[in-house]
Amino acid sequence: MDDVILTHGHDNHIGNAHLFPRATFHVAESEHRFRTSLTAAHTQFSYYAEEEEIGYLRERHRGGKLKPFRGRCSRAPGLDVLEVGRRTPGQAMVRLQTTAGPVRLHGHVG
Ligand SMILES: [Zn+2]
Repeated sequence: MDDVILTHGHDNHIGNAHLFPRATFHVAESEHRFRTSLTAAHTQFSYYAEEEEIGYLRERHRGGKLKPFRGRCSRAPGLDVLEVGRRTPGQAMVRLQTTAGPVRLHGHVG
């Protein structure tokens, strides 16, 4: 797998990132900045992700294998990742053009 899109930094979305050692990760810059900040280490936020998982993302970023984006990134024709915010500072959704029409994939609904 070449690319992994992280819609946000909760543990149920980043917990298995280490299973894709050759992939480049894509995450909204605001989400990455928040999740790796001192603020996110406070109890009310750290509940949502393990330090080990955040550490892995830091390591990938330092190695050039995590590429934060602002607003929008396109990973392939007809596949866009859009920063939408809402439940987390930089939550993103995926918009995929299909022959049946556009499909939107959200990390969370609501
Ligand atoms: Zn979540």
